[in-house]
Amino acid sequence: MKNKKTLETIHPQSTIGYSDYGTDLFSDEVMKQKLSDEAYSSLRKIIDEGGSMTFELAGEVAEAMLQWALEKGATHYTHWFQPMTGSTAEKRNAFLEFSELNKVPIVDFSAKALIRGEADGSSFPTGGLRLVFEARGYTTWDCTSPAFIKRDATGTACLCIPTAFCAFSGVALDEKTPLLRSMQAVEKQAIRVIRALGQDAKRVIPCVGSEQEYFLIDRKAFLKRKDLVYTGRTLFGAPPSKGQELSDQYYAATPERVIEFMDDLNQTLWRMGVPAITEHNEVAPSQYELAPVFVSANLAVDHNQLTMECMRRVAERHGMVCLLHEKPFAQVNGSGKHNNWSLVTDSGVNLLKPTRDPAWSRIFYTVLLATICAVDEYAGLLRWSCSSVGNEYRLGGYEAPTPILSVFIGETLQDELEHICSGGDIGDHKQSTMDIGVSTLASLRKDDDDRNRTSPFAFTGNKFEFRMVGSSQSIGLPNTVLNTIVAEYLMRIADKLDQNNSEDSWSQLMSDLYMTHRRVIFNGNAYDPSWKAEALRRQLPNIDNNVDAILVTKGKEAHELFVRHAVFNEAELSARSEISLQNYATTGKIEAITMLKISRQTILPRVISFASDLSETMIRQKTLGLVSPQQMDLLNRINALIEQSLACIHSLEAAVESMPDTEENAQSSAMIFRDAVREKMGDLRQHIDALERIVGKDYWPQPSYGEMLFRIN
Ligand code: ADP
Ligand code: MG
Repeated sequence: MKNKKTLETIHPQSTIGYSDYGTDLFSDEVMKQKLSDEAYSSLRKIIDEGGSMTFELAGEVAEAMLQWALEKGATHYTHWFQPMTGSTAEKRNAFLEFSELNKVPIVDFSAKALIRGEADGSSFPTGGLRLVFEARGYTTWDCTSPAFIKRDATGTACLCIPTAFCAFSGVALDEKTPLLRSMQAVEKQAIRVIRALGQDAKRVIPCVGSEQEYFLIDRKAFLKRKDLVYTGRTLFGAPPSKGQELSDQYYAATPERVIEFMDDLNQTLWRMGVPAITEHNEVAPSQYELAPVFVSANLAVDHNQLTMECMRRVAERHGMVCLLHEKPFAQVNGSGKHNNWSLVTDSGVNLLKPTRDPAWSRIFYTVLLATICAVDEYAGLLRWSCSSVGNEYRLGGYEAPTPILSVFIGETLQDELEHICSGGDIGDHKQSTMDIGVSTLASLRKDDDDRNRTSPFAFTGNKFEFRMVGSSQSIGLPNTVLNTIVAEYLMRIADKLDQNNSEDSWSQLMSDLYMTHRRVIFNGNAYDPSWKAEALRRQLPNIDNNVDAILVTKGKEAHELFVRHAVFNEAELSARSEISLQNYATTGKIEAITMLKISRQTILPRVISFASDLSETMIRQKTLGLVSPQQMDLLNRINALIEQSLACIHSLEAAVESMPDTEENAQSSAMIFRDAVREKMGDLRQHIDALERIVGKDYWPQPSYGEMLFRIN
């Protein structure tokens, strides 16, 4: 502990430093200061152990929050929630009331205002739930995620209160409610397993750290690209002369302008208590990554939403735009999120951390195997949880995990697991050293995982890293699904152990599970094309498009699973698949229409001017007696490409028109987009990109890939 310094001692007077960390967070320390001892301990108990809030306690907390928020310069408060749009929503209210008699303004924030808010549920996506239930939606305070102050560049400060969003009947209309339910589900089953195996824990908390990838491009270039403005990704664009072939971007020195952005972003996040700590260049040009310290899954979802929002806002302040789309540029890597997940007890034991303690070691192997089994049986649901629209363009591009779910655990651990599952004793965890051939460097302990970067679901020493998640999506659903499917296997295991928890019976159970599900373990290179054939042989599902992924939720298995663990009821689950389908079809349609407009109204007219200038020149050359067969050839090629582009435009237009209304028939609309429209978009792009390669630069109406990806410094 000697080396641990407080934040103040590290950065006594710095302006850019850690001393602002958490200053805009209604933290434990602030609660301790502002609440009476009694109120503080009651609130702490509810946060740590659950339980319901009394009106009286809420009143005292509201009073303390108001006082604190005013000290921080806030004039407004909002219930901050996460509707099924993938982002967050807020409706700001001033802390201002007017007395009834003489209309004198008074500052007020009541228990009622803290606990509950009302929002028109039907203006958010409800997937048909509004037909079944009344339109009003309610936001309810989630005291397990601390309130914070959000500031914008002009200095406006608003108190944000994290809330869940439900219909009057309790039907969830958001990302947070099912996540909280799934956390309870996995906690309950994990505690059963821990107890059946002779240990104890009061609480088990799923913990998450999500690494966020993103692109930064110059704002001026962005505004000239209507495809980026309307859809977040480039719909056209010939590859630049240089992309990521030289592998010279990853971990390279970050440009000054980006460093300034990162400093500003860190400051903004730190103030709100979002523990951003790691930042570096990613593989593609102009691509970067940020990783926070892991926290409980609920907080991690909130933190990731805040991170995405701040990235966008702070980039604007620096004259740049942050692209969070999964595949903003063809031919270079897309962006994802690595969702690091583990289960940790209230006393700090990470159930996924290998240990020498024999009793906890049995628990470690049980949880490890339960997760492997869950990924195998419910691969389709995990794939669904990552079916954000843009992710379809990223998964399987040999730069991101394939859509086939497999689990990497590394050979050392697999040997150990196999040994145990065939009745062997739990020995010391084997450690081998890695010889890196340089005698002056101490030999490193070989990481049990050897850092396989290609697996969609990798065990990385003390956690699983789910790498399929898209960069723009909320991590709410992936973690809801992950918690639920693991809860299911832990439940099945606990049911068996409750009947007989002898060592023999445990070994037998482990062995049965391992034999049934070992097909999902794959330690090799998942980007290698041969893996696809191997996965097919193992009968692992390869869901390569979002529509099929979404339709997994319509199966009986999915419904039974979520209902059994009280995470989604039937209506909630159907609503979510309906929204996913609508989103897919609508986004696709917007992209197709944007392509039609840009090509017809912006690009082709410029290409025609180029062709016309070229033909004029050639006519003049002819009068001078010059022959120019190569220029004629160029003109012919351009002419042919214009004709082909126009033909593609017509057929794309017809395909878009054949999509039924997405609200009324989301599934068929989504299927038509997938089966007909998407391919025609590809055809049109191919011809336009071919034109970009040969038409004069001064004629091309939008910034090229090279200009966007390399101009930043
Ligand atoms: P990388 O995957 O790039 O090698 P690290 O392994 O250091 O990086 O960690 C990546 C992320 O995993 C960080 O956000 C970190 O906080 C998170 N993490 C570390 N340990 C755990 C854990 N036990 N549970 C969940 N997340 C964790
Ligand atoms: Mg990682």
